[in-house]
Amino acid sequence: MMRLVAGIDLGGTAVNYTFLDEAGHFRIDDLFEHPARSVDGPDTCLTQIADGLALAAAHAGVELDKVVAVGLDTPGPASATGVLSSKGSTNFVHPAWAGFDIRGGVEQKLGKPVVYLNDGNAAALWGHVSIFGSDNRATSLSAIIGTGLGGGVIVEGRVVTGRNGFGGELGHVLIPWHAIPGIEGLVPRCNCGRTGDLESLCSLTAIRRTLLPFFLTKTPGHSLAGLDPADAAKRVRGLAVDGDAMCREIFRVQARALGLFFDEMINVFDPDALVVGGGAMEATPEFRGWFLDEIRAGMPPQRMEQAGIALHVIPNGDTAGARGAALEAARTVRA
Ligand SMILES: [Zn+2]
Repeated sequence: MMRLVAGIDLGGTAVNYTFLDEAGHFRIDDLFEHPARSVDGPDTCLTQIADGLALAAAHAGVELDKVVAVGLDTPGPASATGVLSSKGSTNFVHPAWAGFDIRGGVEQKLGKPVVYLNDGNAAALWGHVSIFGSDNRATSLSAIIGTGLGGGVIVEGRVVTGRNGFGGELGHVLIPWHAIPGIEGLVPRCNCGRTGDLESLCSLTAIRRTLLPFFLTKTPGHSLAGLDPADAAKRVRGLAVDGDAMCREIFRVQARALGLFFDEMINVFDPDALVVGGGAMEATPEFRGWFLDEIRAGMPPQRMEQAGIALHVIPNGDTAGARGAALEAARTVRA
């Protein structure tokens, strides 16, 4: 039986698993989840990770002792080697997580070598490999629209993690947002303190804090007016998919922001492809196609050679982190 690597995606509430064999096939088609219990701190969570891995192996029909390496991804902020920020984070609230070496902790718990990526970079790597295959020298930029805006930069087949682990923190890149039509008077502030970065316009948080309040004042009597802002924000995508004019306008602004951002990246990297992922893309083909068209419409004119750059959507979005982490583990095994 051939050797395997495992991918472990630790989210806020659940751990997600996959296995990748030497032929490049993922042995779990959909999602295999186990409760993370990260609020109970590292000891409990590491046990959950190990227990879930054994259950996932049984589910996939693979033997755990054939797993030669593990890829782990988590939300940040964390160092490039998987040490969580000493200042804590929204996904790791228990005080024992501050400054915790989660890569080392999982390695010790499982008794197998573990490589680490942050969740945005892992998802970006999966998106990249789904387009170009695992043996490639291509360059891509992935933006993943969720609560915030994560993503990753893959240069000639390798994830750019950066010196401090903040490579591919695309959400906090400033964009020329005044160029977006229809938002005169809007001041998009981000949690990071910047005004007018990509996340300040293109994230679920941006909808709740900035875009929905702005457009509701222009659309009196809308069905979302008067609802709790967090609930209302979560309904915007569904209404946009169904054709609600105001909610489409909110997503149009997000697409235009992405277009401006991608234009900057085209000029920096001259990439082979641009990739979009995240919950916002878990919608109908019609909506995805419209959104991609709006991204393209938001880009300033490109050089002739770059005008037709490919725009992709990350497939199997829920499994993206685990798959990307497994791919990174497989790369280190090959190396
Ligand atoms: Zn920011």
